[in-house]
Amino acid sequence: MKVLVINSGSSSLKFELVDMTNEKTLAKGICERIGIADPIFTYKNLVKGTKIDKQQVPMEDHSVAIDLVLKTLQDKENGVISGVDEIDAIGHRVVHGGEYYDDSVVVDDQVIKNLEEVAALAPLHNPANIMGIKVMRKLLPDKKNVVVFDTAFHQSMKPEAYMYALPYEDYKELKVRKYGFHGTSHKYVSETVAELLGKKDAKIIVCHLGNGASISAVKNGKVVDTSMGMTPLAGIMMGTRTGDTDPAAAFYVMEKRGLSLKEIDTRMNKKSGILGVYGKSSDFRDLEEGMEAGDERAKLAYDMFCYRVKLYIGAYAAAMDGVDAIAFTGGIGENGADPRETICEGLGYLGLKFDNAKNKERISGNVELSTPDSKVKVYKIETAEELVIARDTYRLTK
Ligand code: AMP
Repeated sequence: MKVLVINSGSSSLKFELVDMTNEKTLAKGICERIGIADPIFTYKNLVKGTKIDKQQVPMEDHSVAIDLVLKTLQDKENGVISGVDEIDAIGHRVVHGGEYYDDSVVVDDQVIKNLEEVAALAPLHNPANIMGIKVMRKLLPDKKNVVVFDTAFHQSMKPEAYMYALPYEDYKELKVRKYGFHGTSHKYVSETVAELLGKKDAKIIVCHLGNGASISAVKNGKVVDTSMGMTPLAGIMMGTRTGDTDPAAAFYVMEKRGLSLKEIDTRMNKKSGILGVYGKSSDFRDLEEGMEAGDERAKLAYDMFCYRVKLYIGAYAAAMDGVDAIAFTGGIGENGADPRETICEGLGYLGLKFDNAKNKERISGNVELSTPDSKVKVYKIETAEELVIARDTYRLTK
């Protein structure tokens, strides 16, 4: 059985074709700048090792982009299948499932209706995700589509964790509450760690540190709490997002700078975080280079980032009455030895002994970064969000 995984954004579309008999990716790629000038297509055939590197191809909308993807997958030179019949089902990443879904779901008209209703909570993401599903249903009408939500894994949170202390009617009428995101990554990583620990009833803190970043507390396989909120703006500091901030600071900046709602939203989502504090880049590698070159604002942004991650680790150890393992994942979590060391410094009170030497070795795959006698284990785990989507699609359609 082969599953096509689609992650449709407003101007981009990532795809991956996975063979579920061995969970190997056959081909993957990305369509970028869809509907804007100079669209780019990148594709890798992982069976033959061939690739199409940043080719300029006209893609005026998602329909054209998906058509190009399907044609390339069947192409004589670069393809991995001889016809679309070989694709058994399509798995779609959808950011927000609201309170409707605590698991992935097979698409029907009611699902689309629910997603459209929830789109108000994720106006930047859900409409683009829905567009991908609609195009796929039109192009391959006899295939099953499955939706895998970023929010679903976090639906196990109790009300005391997900409620905001706003007037209750804002929850009842407007559905304002914490939902959490990056659920597929938190699920995959916490399950992988539970396997490595050899026990299901473990207390695990997952630090997904990428350009977007979130932390979750997972106890006995269920999310107890997570750092992102109603939207992905909450929690730790990110590449361009503020993370937790006094909401009144936003009101004040709006008033003083005469900003509209849209402008403060853009300022907090796209111009803040590492980019906002450092001022030169949102990229963590650039930040580390800046720090090495003696840039004080780079150092400040680095310290703020690590400090905030550490605060959440402390909070989530408290939320679970302890912690068995801390996992680092995402671009920064998987590759950034220095931030991992800085974050774990001073966590000895939890019974954590960090192996600094091992942390510096660039070992690929999943690696234990604590010493053998450490009470709290630390791992670097390579996340696999596409694989989770493929697995759920397979589970619901096989
Ligand atoms: P992601 O959003 O998960 O793809 O992660 C992107 C982030 O990971 C960017 O901020 C990158 O700078 C960061 N990153 C990638 N490689 C490294 C590295 N070797 N050291 C530190 N950060 C890295």
